[in-house]
Parts: sequence; C-alpha cells; structure tokens
Amino acid sequence: MARVLDGKALARDIKDELKIKIHNWVNIGHRAPSLRCIIVGNDPASHTYVRNKVRAALEVGIEAETIKYDETLSEETLISAIESLNQDKNVDGILVQLPLPNGINERKVCNTVAPEKDVDGFHITNVGQLSLDMPTIVPATALAVVEMLKRFKIETYGRNAVVVGRSKNVGMPIAMMLHSDGNHDSRLGMDATVTICHRYTPPEQLELHCRNADIIVTATGIPKLIKANMIKPGATVIDVGITRITDEQGKTKLVGDVDYDEVVKIAGAITPVPGGVGPMTVAMLMHNTFQAAQKLRDIN
Ligand code: NAD
Repeated sequence: MARVLDGKALARDIKDELKIKIHNWVNIGHRAPSLRCIIVGNDPASHTYVRNKVRAALEVGIEAETIKYDETLSEETLISAIESLNQDKNVDGILVQLPLPNGINERKVCNTVAPEKDVDGFHITNVGQLSLDMPTIVPATALAVVEMLKRFKIETYGRNAVVVGRSKNVGMPIAMMLHSDGNHDSRLGMDATVTICHRYTPPEQLELHCRNADIIVTATGIPKLIKANMIKPGATVIDVGITRITDEQGKTKLVGDVDYDEVVKIAGAITPVPGGVGPMTVAMLMHNTFQAAQKLRDIN
C-alpha cells in the first residue's frame, strides 16, 4: 500500500511556520501583510475557495478582505478596481478568483494586477520569469506540488515525471518547476525529465507515458482518468484534480483524477483528494503573500 502524503497536515505545519515568521516581522515594526481577494459572480465553488483563502490568511496573521462583485460587473470597472489596489500602499497581495464571467477577458485582468502584488503568479511578467528560471512569484498550486515532493523527500533528480494537463495556470507551471535546473542559483528546479500529456494525447499513449513515470502529477478534472494499470509499482502519484460528483447514495463529494482505491495498492506514495494538494495550495498562497509583502517593503 502506498504512503499517503497528508497535504492537510503539511499545510498546517507550513502555516504554523509562516505564522511565526509573520509574527516576528510585525514585531520588528512592519505592518501585517495584507491580501485582497476579488470575486465576481455567484459560483459556489469559487466562493468556498475564497473563504478558505481568507480564513488561512487570518490564521497566519495576514490581514485579508474579500471584494465581491455582481456577475454583471463590466471589465472596465474590474480593471479600474484592480488599478486602485495596485496603487494602495496598504495592499501587498491581490488575487482575482478565476474563472471570471463570460465577457471579461481573464488574460487582460491577470495582466492588470501589478506583478509584484500578483500572488497567484499569473501576470505575463511572472509567467515569463518562471519560464526563464528567474526569481518570481510561482503559482501556488505548482509551489504546493514542489513543496510536497521536497518535504516528503520524493527524489526528482533525473527521474521521469509525467504531468497530465497543460493549463497555463496549473499543468504548465508544474511541468516548468519539475524540469528546470536544480543548480540554478536564483530559483531551484527539480531536474526531472518531464513529459506533458493533454486532451489530445491518445489514451494508449497516456497509459504508456504514465507507466514509464516515477512521478505522475495529474491536473485535468477528469475522475478516474489515472487507473492502476497505468502506474509503475512504487511510483509517486500527485493528484491535483478536484471534481464535485454525486455518488450512488446521492451524496456529493470531491474526487481527484486518480482511481484512488486501486492506485493506492500499486503506487509508492499518493496524495488523497480532499486533503492533498488543495490545502497545500492555500498554504503556499499565504507564502506568496508574505513574500510579496517583504519584497514591497524592500522596494518602498
Ligand atoms: P483546465 O480545464 O484549464 O485544464 C484541464 C487540462 O486537462 C487541459 O490541459 C487538458 O488538455 C487536460 N485534459 C483534458 N482531458 C484530458 C485527457 N483525457 N487526457 C489528458 N489530459 C486531458 O483545468 P485546470 O484549471 O488546469 O485545473 C485542472 C484540475 O485541477 C481541475 O480539476 C481543478 O479543479 C483542479 N485544481 C486544483 C487545485 C488544487 O489546489 N488542488 C488548484 C487549481 C486547479
């Protein structure tokens, strides 16, 4: 049976560490780091995510506020709201919860957030810096995966990794972190050999690539895409996917991309859903917010 990588417990440890660091930072005279979460519309899952982020922020000593807008909000109004937060000296981190309603250009919105306050790491400058192995704000989900691999001591150097999913906010930055150079002096990479699979990877090829992988990171939102026959015995399986399903008893529950009950018998290590990458993503977002606050203090 695989070792279960408990993301919830690790996230608690990381938040505890961060709480002490922020406490010390405030004790030497800095104001508490501050985060603004913008949410547009009524998507219940998005509201839950934002609530969790604000709760985690308050837990670690980050001052946080949610700014809610109706789904009829225009792109111009949203952009000018972000611009005024960019100017606000009392704000260190800004995040815009995605997806945004139809009619609002997400790329334009992400590029409006000042890069140094872009705690999601979605601004074109931060994406570019990530691609060039430069110090930057790394998207929290990618950072969550990296931190789990590091803290649970999963070797990545020279190993075969498959990332399933190529979205610009999730799959791509994970693949970027996994393949990049561990000797780089400004941002340490993980030196894995990375294969990226996506919706046009034929199923039999997906199976072949996965079976050859020491590490599989899956981020598709397709329940049971990753099955036991696709796993090399002893491999590490990191499940980023989150899908809300209704089971046979009519109960709704969250599941990942992995056929967990079967894969757990073959893999060497596995993350559960819920309780795996999800809570770690929130913890790493807090890390990013504190990092932004420290950087901004150096600039100002
Ligand atoms: P997305 O819809 O933008 O991307 C899905 C990706 O899956 C695409 O790149 C697509 O090519 C790929 N894909 C689709 N069908 C496939 C198939 N049959 N075989 C291989 N690849 C296939 O979604 P996203 O924003 O990247 O999110 C992916 C999943 O991760 C979702 O379930 C989302 O809820 C979850 N997520 C979790 C966290 C977390 O903290 N755990 C954070 C962000 C997103």
